Amino acid sequence: MKDPSPPRRYVCQRCGNCCRWPGDVRVTDEEIEKIAHHLGLPLDLFIERYTRLNANRTGLSLIDQDGGACVFLKGKNECLIQAVKPSQCAGFPNAWNFPGWREMCEALEVSEEDGSESRS
Ligand code: SF4
Ligand code: SF4
Repeated sequence: MKDPSPPRRYVCQRCGNCCRWPGDVRVTDEEIEKIAHHLGLPLDLFIERYTRLNANRTGLSLIDQDGGACVFLKGKNECLIQAVKPSQCAGFPNAWNFPGWREMCEALEVSEEDGSESRS
């Protein structure tokens, strides 16, 4: 019998919206090392310049620009650390999302079964 609700996944359209809304962009120790290396900065300088305690004080997040966008967002949708961006960024919206996320994300919904795309 055919599964009435085949698996769906979402393909990012790089609108940049998720880089602009306020909130924590969490970074692990390993991600901090990778990003600092990518930028050619000593670890302690990167941490001092680009991170802050996250909202519940359990780890570090990237700092924000005025208005709440991520410090590494350039223009509307260019990530300056795309090659080493945190897993939180890479995982949205397939690995994690939140109630109402679809209103703010332009990702295309793709059927794993037939490859068809839709923006729903
Ligand atoms: S909001 Fe959605 S479509 Fe836009 S950049 Fe983020 S994941 Fe991609
Ligand atoms: S690190 Fe890059 S992908 Fe992640 S929120 Fe910042 S600008 Fe967006």
